[in-house]
Amino acid sequence: MNATEKCLVLKVGCFREADCWVRLLTPTRGIFNGFAFGGNRSRRRFVGCLDPLSHVLFTIGSNKTGTYTVLEEGTLLNNFSTVRKDPVRTGLAVNCIKFIEAIEIDPADAKPAYQLLLETLLMLEEGGGSSEFTPWLFRGKLAFDMGFKPDFLTCGSCGESVTSEGGYRFDVEKGQVACRTCLSTGKPLEGFARPISAGVLRALDWIEQSRPMDWLTVSMDNEVRRQAGQLIELFVAYHLGLSWEGGMYKKV
Ligand SMILES: [Zn+2]
Repeated sequence: MNATEKCLVLKVGCFREADCWVRLLTPTRGIFNGFAFGGNRSRRRFVGCLDPLSHVLFTIGSNKTGTYTVLEEGTLLNNFSTVRKDPVRTGLAVNCIKFIEAIEIDPADAKPAYQLLLETLLMLEEGGGSSEFTPWLFRGKLAFDMGFKPDFLTCGSCGESVTSEGGYRFDVEKGQVACRTCLSTGKPLEGFARPISAGVLRALDWIEQSRPMDWLTVSMDNEVRRQAGQLIELFVAYHLGLSWEGGMYKKV
């Protein structure tokens, strides 16, 4: 049975003379490989569709025995030509794609991952993004969208809202804020609790609520950016089991 679905093309490779394999991300299936037989020759069925970073409506079927996925034809929806032409934007897009691939998205998380990557590519196409913000905002936002959603503005223990006072800690493992009063009553937080300012908590809340288009106008105090970035990396490493080392994401 054939179905049509909107897909983001993550990678393309060729084998034999005319055949290609394509790594795709879709909102229902997550990441998978499909074969475009004759894709290199029959450009008519796949005009502009067999390039990484393309947004394509593919007709997807399978071979007779159902053992692998076959791409029958595609209609190009967006090729993000500006992202493709600008090496900085291409680099940011590839960084986000590598992260999505490293997480091993299962179909239950496919929808938010697809939506976030699509919106990020649209943002890069329109506004360019920034090396200082886009990569870690993407990582944090993906973790939040996959359901690891801390309440950054409320003490997880007494329920008081975060004010401008200091003395807060954030427990990366539980995803919870603790206020000074709760901390001073002597219930020690285990292991992962780190001191954090109200400003950084508000920045993290903003990131949690944001969409990629909002990132075009983001500005943060250097120190807030450094601390929020650090906390996001810890949060991602703990909850998604990944860290960034030497230009690659590694399972931790
Ligand atoms: Zn409290």
